[in-house]
Amino acid sequence: MSTAYCDFHLQSIAGERREGSSERTTRVTNPYDGSELLNIRLANADDLNAAFLAAEKAQADWSVTPPAQRSALLQRVVAIFDTRKEEIIDWLIRESGSTRLKANVEWGAARSITQEAVSMPNRVHGMTLASNVPGKENRVYRKPLGVVGVISPWNFPLHLSQRSIAPALALGNAVVVKPASDTPVTGGLLLARIFEEAGLPKGLLSVVVGSGSEIGDAFVEHRVPRMVSFTGSTPVGRRIGGICSGGEHIKKVALELGGNSPFVVLDDADIDQAVNAAAMGKFLHQGQICMAINRIIVDARRYDDFVARFVEKVKGLRVGDPNDMETVVGPVINARQREGLEAKIATAKQEGATVLLEGEIDGQLVPPHVFGDVTPEMEISREEIFGPLVGIQKARDEAHALTLANASEYGLSSAVFTTNLARGARFAQGIKAGMTHVNDMPVNDEAHVPFGGEKNSGLGRFNGDWAIEEFTTDHWISVQHEPRSYPF
Ligand code: NAD
Repeated sequence: MSTAYCDFHLQSIAGERREGSSERTTRVTNPYDGSELLNIRLANADDLNAAFLAAEKAQADWSVTPPAQRSALLQRVVAIFDTRKEEIIDWLIRESGSTRLKANVEWGAARSITQEAVSMPNRVHGMTLASNVPGKENRVYRKPLGVVGVISPWNFPLHLSQRSIAPALALGNAVVVKPASDTPVTGGLLLARIFEEAGLPKGLLSVVVGSGSEIGDAFVEHRVPRMVSFTGSTPVGRRIGGICSGGEHIKKVALELGGNSPFVVLDDADIDQAVNAAAMGKFLHQGQICMAINRIIVDARRYDDFVARFVEKVKGLRVGDPNDMETVVGPVINARQREGLEAKIATAKQEGATVLLEGEIDGQLVPPHVFGDVTPEMEISREEIFGPLVGIQKARDEAHALTLANASEYGLSSAVFTTNLARGARFAQGIKAGMTHVNDMPVNDEAHVPFGGEKNSGLGRFNGDWAIEEFTTDHWISVQHEPRSYPF
């Protein structure tokens, strides 16, 4: 048995484990009972600068390290994920309010992307292309970007940091991570310790915990990172995208942003299957998932049947301590999120939605709320909910269901239920989103399959070959084998 990691008040900056240098500290608390887990002295712009400079220096050697060595390092990380599984899951429960089920799912997803990254060093390839210039040879080399800056959210902190860190390092980059302030351990410090234990050379991975106002812009604007991989809300993503591609700075940016997943039940759907998928796709992690169901759209002919069975199912979901095996709905992450959800419930009622199920809010435990007779104009349809509330809309027919499904500025994930698979695949083709699942919930992520969104849900794709593309760049090198004749 390995000894549990400790001293998470120390950050991983430029190859050292030390406190941040800011005047400010942050309290990290358990969202379920409010108990203090840590008090961290934050990093400031000097710490950030040190992390980026160390990364730049370390990356020069790492980029020419043989692929087999980089693979072996990642394989050791996978092994540590296995030996420290319970420790990782425990942190996910305590720091991010994950239920046991969600913590296991997240551990599995982060492990899978690490396993996928093991093979990435050997999958990078260039090409040669014919030239129209006599005697010229065109070679295209695929190279690491250099240093990648990763900014991640609090909802799936471990996985959403690791899905950038593991491929970026495997492909010969260095990484600096800024985790969300609610989840500095699971969003970064824990991963830094795992990579350190696996033997990653110093300086290649820093985790800098600082406030958005103190180091947010500086992180994105710093000269060193050639790419910013951001996962979070659409408003913050817009700002980061603007900095990366406008004014003084031109750098690559990946934006994985908010969602508003439609879940469509057509007239020939298996209602029991649809109800089970809807409950899981809505309430896993209290609905705090970018792919979570935001709108349920049901054909009018099956509406009453679906509503009755869905409400019955949801009534039976246990709300409470996320550490308890039976709990399905744990706490929301913080008081600000809870207040936002309270406001959304009040607006849904004001706007005329029918309350089908509600319950008493207790601290950060928000029980499931289900609203019927919801229209596309209501706030609960238009905005990302990110909590255990859902509205059900009625569609006149298949065409209307598709119009309703596409009535959103977002286009991350989506789902459709029908017993006719050809119809399902055709309907899926009509949805404007990065991901659509026929006869399943919209919450899906496989390490070798492209993950990402359309419209205001983002730019770029994670996982598999798509991550190889994201975290590398092309270098065209032509070789003129014989003297070229120029016109003057
Ligand atoms: P957020 O945008 O508030 O914060 C995300 C991260 O950005 C945090 O680390 C935060 O500290 C940092 N940040 C905030 N302001 C910044 C600034 N000005 N400069 C640099 N960094 C800054 O999002 P959140 O509340 O942590 O997460 C919830 C959101 O994330 C939801 O909208 C959800 O849909 C989205 N999300 C998207 C995906 C996806 O893959 N598309 C996955 C998970 C979550």
